[in-house]
Amino acid sequence: MDADALAARVAQLALAPAPAASDAVPVLSYFFTPKSGSKHPDNADHDLKLVVASIEQAKNLGAAKALAAAVGLKDMRAVSGADLEKLLGRTRDQASPLSLPPSLAPSTLLITSSSLSSAPALSIPSPTDASQQLVLSHADWHKAVLQLKTEGAALKEAEFLLKGVDAPKPAAQKAAGAPAPAGSSAAAKAQAELEGQAGVQLGLTVKKEQAVFGDWYQQVLIKGEMLDYYDISGCYILKPWSYGIWQEIQTWFDRHIKALGVSNAYFPMFVSQTVLEREKDHIEGFAPEVAWVTRAGKSDLDVPIAIRPTSETVMYPYYGKWIRSHRDLPLKLNQWNSVVRWEFKNPQPFLRTREFLWQEGHTAFQTKAEADEEVLQILDLYRRVYEELLAVPVIPGVKSEKEKFAGGLYTTTVEGFIPTTGRGIQGGTSHCLGQNFSKMFNITVEDPANPGGDKLHVWQNSWGLSTRSLGVMVMVHGDDKGLVLPPRVAQLQVVIVPTGITAKTSDELRAKLNDEADRIAKDLVKAGIKAKADLRDGYTPGFKYNDWELKGVPIRLELGPKDLEKQAVLSVRRDTGAKESLPLSDLGSSIPALLETIHGDMLARARAQFDSSIVTVEQWEQLVPALNGNNVVVMPWCEVEECEDKIKDRSAKESVQGAEDERAPSAGAKSLCIPHDQARFGSVEGKTCPQCGEKAKRWTLFGRSY
Ligand SMILES: [Zn+2]
Repeated sequence: MDADALAARVAQLALAPAPAASDAVPVLSYFFTPKSGSKHPDNADHDLKLVVASIEQAKNLGAAKALAAAVGLKDMRAVSGADLEKLLGRTRDQASPLSLPPSLAPSTLLITSSSLSSAPALSIPSPTDASQQLVLSHADWHKAVLQLKTEGAALKEAEFLLKGVDAPKPAAQKAAGAPAPAGSSAAAKAQAELEGQAGVQLGLTVKKEQAVFGDWYQQVLIKGEMLDYYDISGCYILKPWSYGIWQEIQTWFDRHIKALGVSNAYFPMFVSQTVLEREKDHIEGFAPEVAWVTRAGKSDLDVPIAIRPTSETVMYPYYGKWIRSHRDLPLKLNQWNSVVRWEFKNPQPFLRTREFLWQEGHTAFQTKAEADEEVLQILDLYRRVYEELLAVPVIPGVKSEKEKFAGGLYTTTVEGFIPTTGRGIQGGTSHCLGQNFSKMFNITVEDPANPGGDKLHVWQNSWGLSTRSLGVMVMVHGDDKGLVLPPRVAQLQVVIVPTGITAKTSDELRAKLNDEADRIAKDLVKAGIKAKADLRDGYTPGFKYNDWELKGVPIRLELGPKDLEKQAVLSVRRDTGAKESLPLSDLGSSIPALLETIHGDMLARARAQFDSSIVTVEQWEQLVPALNGNNVVVMPWCEVEECEDKIKDRSAKESVQGAEDERAPSAGAKSLCIPHDQARFGSVEGKTCPQCGEKAKRWTLFGRSY
């Protein structure tokens, strides 16, 4: 990387960072490799090696092939995240046309979205400091682009007509000056033709594999219409496709906790500094991530106010006030809300975001036994959310002392696993807080067994499940074609696509197919199935198949003239691609049965993969090779906190030393959980801890994790 050349270019441009950052349009750049032998448009002596497309970050770029066709190239493919890092030393989010080394400019074509030229200010990753964003005035952006031209790059401006949510807009983009306006039927047809020729639809440009997993995850979420980016880093918009899944989880879980006697309530999102800091261990765990309100309008607040990172300290002063006697117990409240944890690590949609949705339950009991019982009841509900709704297997267990909730007595967890990266992931936690918070917040009752004696401090629990669960679901089930949604939560379970229509098909038959598809959909809806017919005009059946595969709809029904004659329909499973002809007469029973089969198969496949990725390790030397093989491990462990630190440090160091490739994962192993089901791993009697050699207490899962 010629960093000096970059710095020289920046100095030469004399960029004046624009002041108003809030209305700056974020620019995202995509990097492509053209087919070999592609010529530089302005200079036939040069080969074209790189195509950079810069667009507003909020938009979704279409297929690489369609884009190539629009700018007069035969073909090109996206540069993988790993290759981009080699080329520019940047991730996609950090790269911009300005971070190209000037030496690369003569073999580069830069395509800019024409709407960028009307934005008053643009925000791009800094060319000299990858961690910073640079806000440029429109004039400076223009100057920078022209500088690239001076260095030899070819420039094109294109109007990016991008994929919309509701309207059947054209899916990719056309060169500037192309005649058909966006959204018109002519444009839609031209688009469908363009994609037909290219042989590729809106699909993913990367495969679900470890080297590009981050790119895959990002694409599958954006193109699958689960979420969109927002102009504040680490915050995302949950679109109906994902929010609907969250609501399914809400409905199910809400019903089950109400059966346990839990009521919903709502507490304010603001918390005063004094109250937040009342419990020392607790706040130490959260302090670096707490966001503060320090100003209202133009005046500074006398005392800053925190935004809840979780609500223990928000709620418990009132528990102290409301719980007067043992007759007020148990108190069981839950709230469905969002919390804010201002993380500075790389954000990841659903997994690590600055604001996220969750439920947090907070309960108080007279005895520890009651609290212990509820901890496990809730944990089992979390297990069922994952397994029975999301078809994701989890392992219930208890966290080590090091990993438990700050200020709590003990933490139980359901742990999941992402096979592509071999990493564990915490799915939901149910904590017993003991009497620690009740002592801090003075939540006491008179002991019914000892009237007039010492007051009893109540036993408390708190438990939470968040939208992270959606990220786990996507990572576990998605594939090279896009999302694969588990049937019980999918917002559309069945899509019916009329097919087999050619130029010779009569209008009458065409209408009949459409009507029949619509009727099937309506009948399925009456049978309680989320179904619809895709009757969009101007799209080929192939386009529609790919579109719904990208969005992960569990079953596609294809209805053609021959199916109609046979009074049948061809079902295609999203999870396996398996096809089966189903009689129209009993779709009301065959479809629900097929949806249940799909759920069962998805869960079984994911469980087999998780189970076969748990390696038993009894000798230290086995640990790092097992991790590098994309596994988690189960070890007989001593449960000493210092030993856990050493396991992490030693495994991190050895991962780096043994790696032939410097980009190999180097994260050390931490404890994921001590599984409740110890029996599945056999007796731990007489075994020793592989790290320290001390007597092992229980089998413990260790692994790299999210
Ligand atoms: Zn040990």
